[in-house]
Amino acid sequence: MWYQPDYAHRLNIKDLDNCFFEMGSTAPPNEWRDSSLIIRATRNCPWNRCQFCNLYKGKKFEYRKVAELKKDIDAARLLLDEVKAASLKFGFNGEEENAWVRRQIKEAIIQGNPEIYWRDFADPGLLRLRMGNLECIVDWLGSGCKTAFLQDSNSLIMRTPELIEAIRYLKETFPTILRITSYARAKTCFKKPLAELKELHDAGLSRLHVGLESGCDEVLTEMQKGVTAEEHSIGTRKAMEAGISISEYVMPGLGGRKWSNIHALETARVLNEMNADFIRIRSLIISKNLPLFERCQTGEFEELSEDEVVDEIEQLIQNLNCRSYVLSDYISNLLFGVEGQLPQDKEKMLKIIEKYKARSPMEKLEFRLRQRLAIYRRMYGEKLMLKLDGLVKEAMESIQKEAPDAEARVNRAVSSLKQKFI
Ligand code: SF4
Repeated sequence: MWYQPDYAHRLNIKDLDNCFFEMGSTAPPNEWRDSSLIIRATRNCPWNRCQFCNLYKGKKFEYRKVAELKKDIDAARLLLDEVKAASLKFGFNGEEENAWVRRQIKEAIIQGNPEIYWRDFADPGLLRLRMGNLECIVDWLGSGCKTAFLQDSNSLIMRTPELIEAIRYLKETFPTILRITSYARAKTCFKKPLAELKELHDAGLSRLHVGLESGCDEVLTEMQKGVTAEEHSIGTRKAMEAGISISEYVMPGLGGRKWSNIHALETARVLNEMNADFIRIRSLIISKNLPLFERCQTGEFEELSEDEVVDEIEQLIQNLNCRSYVLSDYISNLLFGVEGQLPQDKEKMLKIIEKYKARSPMEKLEFRLRQRLAIYRRMYGEKLMLKLDGLVKEAMESIQKEAPDAEARVNRAVSSLKQKFI
């Protein structure tokens, strides 16, 4: 890279320490899609014991002071003003809905501030953070600065007055914000008094993303979720009573072969009871660094095949009689089309599942492989690593030849592709 003075915007920032804000790694897919502003309210997970989750393993949970959050919000404001200034300088409109324009602005800022973004840079973590901040703010501007997401896994655990103060400050600093969302543990909802949840909602907390995973207590216990189905249901219904919208995550496959049936039925029962605004399907993926992996190796946990997971999802949808909106917007799912408003779209969703199940065994294998490959390429680019490329080619050839080991080869290739998704 080299400096191009006429295609550069110099940031008007005096104190580098005060112009970047912390960002964690995870947010719900729709928050990335909506280009939400990301503010890290706490670090990592205060529970951190779920057997199917490795997001924060080995990382210590930390509260952040409200003063730190305010400093981060101020840094986001500073960067937003600079991005707007760059936009106007290059003759754009300071709002930037166009992706090409957004790229030009990003480039101009990177060009104009080599010591911040690329020159002689020794700390890759800091560089990633600065780039992440820039992308977040430029894209947020493009989306109209309407939504914000509070990271990490359970912001609700903050003391209520502190969380309220942070949310109010966020809204005062960015009056365009219409929706503030966060992850939360149902146990925390369960413990928080209704009056406090109402205060949080009144301050501006619009939605919580909560992981039910399963409505079956045996599964919740085995997976060390730390909450019963009943506590989960009471907690999230209380949040809804306070006016907070709820997005529930469920995990087909989590009961393994042993609990598959009851896992689907009990999950549907609890979802019906809660009637959450959203139900998000997030099928289980077992990676090597999950606590659950060892239990798979010893045979203590029997993983379902992809077709069995599809059966479980079918059973779940068949038994839902709530008025939630169902989404499959997570990369671990095979059938993204299973989406719609209940009850009216129930048949449509079941038809998508039926259509998959009506395929011949070889067609199913090909569908599975192509789906995973397409997602992988969308996320990580066309080129596959050598070993992975070999696995995929072998699997594809075995399908074309209708070889007896085609299923085993597809399973191997799909499993390797999926490892990257976690
Ligand atoms: S509470 Fe959430 S983030 Fe924490 S370990 Fe469980 S699934 Fe992972």
